[in-house]
Amino acid sequence: MPINRTTLNGLYDLNLQTDEDAAAFLAAQAEPVEKIETSRDVVVNAVGTHLYETFFQGYTRKQWGLDPSELDKSVTSRVPTRTNLDDRYFLDSFQAMPRDGFTRMFEKMLDHPNIDLALGADYHDLKPSELAPLTVYTGPIDAFFGHRFGPLPYRSLHFRHEILDQRRFQEVAVVNYPDEAVPYTRITEYKHLTGQVAPRTSITYEYPSAEGDPYYPIPRPENQALYKKYEALANQRDDVIFLGRLGTYRYYNMDQVVGQALATYRRLAERMAIQTGAASTAAE
Ligand code: UDP
Repeated sequence: MPINRTTLNGLYDLNLQTDEDAAAFLAAQAEPVEKIETSRDVVVNAVGTHLYETFFQGYTRKQWGLDPSELDKSVTSRVPTRTNLDDRYFLDSFQAMPRDGFTRMFEKMLDHPNIDLALGADYHDLKPSELAPLTVYTGPIDAFFGHRFGPLPYRSLHFRHEILDQRRFQEVAVVNYPDEAVPYTRITEYKHLTGQVAPRTSITYEYPSAEGDPYYPIPRPENQALYKKYEALANQRDDVIFLGRLGTYRYYNMDQVVGQALATYRRLAERMAIQTGAASTAAE
């Protein structure tokens, strides 16, 4: 994944040589959908039923517990089809990992005299007197408001981590398993991402689940409508800023979440500078 020319040549035993060849092949497979609304529409419209069923239908049913026809088109649109040979998952010009890993990065960010960390403490158990004048809340927005309009649905994952006594488990960092009969959706082997060289290898299986920590908002019109009701409440609160996947019920990637946080910081820094009359010192 994503489907590219190599996929087509391998799956159908073809010899498509150029982008134009692959585009023509895909155009012949495509089954135009008049009004593209769902995650099924967007894929079938682009690549037809066979590729859709092979790569998207089972994976999506497992991942979301819903058929692609029940999910907003934005979900499968995250993985567009290619006609070239590029087999990277993301096309961003700059792709990187924190040098010493995410754990170290967050430890360093939190290691600041102005930051107190209270783990295992539920925000909702805090007394009003313990709250700062301004809260940045990144938990589930429906929980913040006591689920008063009913719960927003979230999807979770269970991870099965294994350390294997072998140098390498698979050829690439991530292998997806679209077959509905296989209970997990993908296996990640980290050393491909980190570049670590070691005699053993660490892998993780992902099992989608309705229970567990909320990881994914579920993009569908009725969920968005429910979120909008919570968002209206949030907009009335100038003592709280809601951020992140759970706070704004958006299926954000890491880079988008960081972008949202930085943009919010800039706005906040300007507001504070105006309030205190100080010159803006917003650092980039
Ligand atoms: N998807 C799929 N087959 C795949 C990969 C993705 O059907 O092999 C669909 C599936 O619905 C998935 C969505 O595309 O939830 C977005 O995929 P992505 O890899 O971006 O999901 P994430 O990494 O956020 O779990």
